[in-house]
Amino acid sequence: MRGQITLIGAGPGEPELLTVKAVRKLQEADAVFYDRLINQDLLNYCSDECELIDVGKKPKHHKVPQSEIENLIIEKAKEGKRVVRLKSGDPYVFGRGGEEGKRIIEEELIFEVIPGITSAIGGLAYAGIPITHRDFASSFHVITGHLKSEDNQLDWDVLAKTEGTLVFLMGMSELQTITSELMKHEKNKETPVAIVRWATRKDQKTVTGTLETICQIAEEEKMTSPSLIVMGDVVTQRDYLNFYESRPLFGKRIVLPHTCKKNMYHRLIDAGASVFELPKLIKKEMTDIFSLENKERLVFLDADSVSFFVGKLQEMNQDIRQLQHVDFVTIGHHTELAVKKLGILPIETYAVLSDYQLEKDNLEKTLFIGEKSYVNQLEQLNPTIDSYVPFEVTSPVIPENEFSEADYFFLPSSKAAHYFLKDLGKENKDMLKNKKIIVMGAITAKIFETQEIPVIQSENPSFESVLDKIIEEEM
Ligand code: SAH
Repeated sequence: MRGQITLIGAGPGEPELLTVKAVRKLQEADAVFYDRLINQDLLNYCSDECELIDVGKKPKHHKVPQSEIENLIIEKAKEGKRVVRLKSGDPYVFGRGGEEGKRIIEEELIFEVIPGITSAIGGLAYAGIPITHRDFASSFHVITGHLKSEDNQLDWDVLAKTEGTLVFLMGMSELQTITSELMKHEKNKETPVAIVRWATRKDQKTVTGTLETICQIAEEEKMTSPSLIVMGDVVTQRDYLNFYESRPLFGKRIVLPHTCKKNMYHRLIDAGASVFELPKLIKKEMTDIFSLENKERLVFLDADSVSFFVGKLQEMNQDIRQLQHVDFVTIGHHTELAVKKLGILPIETYAVLSDYQLEKDNLEKTLFIGEKSYVNQLEQLNPTIDSYVPFEVTSPVIPENEFSEADYFFLPSSKAAHYFLKDLGKENKDMLKNKKIIVMGAITAKIFETQEIPVIQSENPSFESVLDKIIEEEM
């Protein structure tokens, strides 16, 4: 098979500012090469099997040279892989997309481009600045501020006389030169100017001034790269159009489990938050079998164990009716539902494991079934219990920066809370005490409280109520 390379414009950063086609290609990709400006949240669109390759930096902060990046991409595609090269904004706006495309075609690989929203337009929109406006600007010019190389000198005279909106990319280190050259060439000193840093991202920050004052303002406000520098009367419209920075959860980072996506993710994004999804839990099936001989009581510790247990019975070619004299006991609401789904009514149900009184049980005639960490908890209470562990869940490591940057953690169920805390180190648990943890119900709250981690509980067990609670916290 001939390899193919898709150059994708990732937009300015917010994960939903991708095209529908870009999302599909990311889902289909075998390998994705991304660089420094890419919002890592975009990589959530990729499949679990996809190889993710950061070409943004080498050890000691050196950039990977362009030719080396091209070689890596081409090599991967020649293995017959579907390769995506993810570029910030639009690949053809100061993104070296043209050079990469030419090289790919020379190698006789299949090549395509998916345009993206350039930061020069979309980034400004998120700062409340329309790049054109019937009353203020009838053209716009996107200019590189990277003035280092000899052949990249700008015609300041022409730029100074241009009526349209001027947008400089990669211009922060040259801000002084840009503003002073324009004023020297008689551009009006009162021209409104804005600088937008990390547009569409959690760290978006906008400052405004005039051509004359902006340098000092940028310095005072510690504005750094990557930023857009925009000049023209359109900047004044920010007073009316600044929708993003005025959202109630703007600038807030909220961590939630992967499974929450459909319900909560969009609500939070629409309220202006940025969201980190915890990596998927890793489930490992166990191979042991269980014996039901002499058992009069089966205690299910979690919902998934019920389906694993029934599956195992089927594998062993056994009929569930042999259990008609066996009592079923469940721990947790979802476990109860899972047992009821089998057409069996549990004889006892408990909200949490700690409500279960082991000493009252005839342990010899009881089999406990549950994920390994639940069974471990039990074994600590009484090492003689008979148990069956159908599977083991490992919680993937949460990147350190996500932990420190997060403002809120939302754990929607006791299961989510249990697995979240299960493999968390002491340092992170201590750090959690200074974060805000939102839960929907008393049982989930209890899981944190037993570890002395304070939580905030929503008024009702609904996603609306959770959102209201977070907004209330921010007011
Ligand atoms: N292809 C990109 C531009 C790449 S050049 C595009 O179409 O947007 C890199 C420069 O783009 C940065 O130095 C900065 O000036 C600008 N830039 C890209 N993304 C940005 C963002 N989210 N916020 C502010 N500036 C950004």
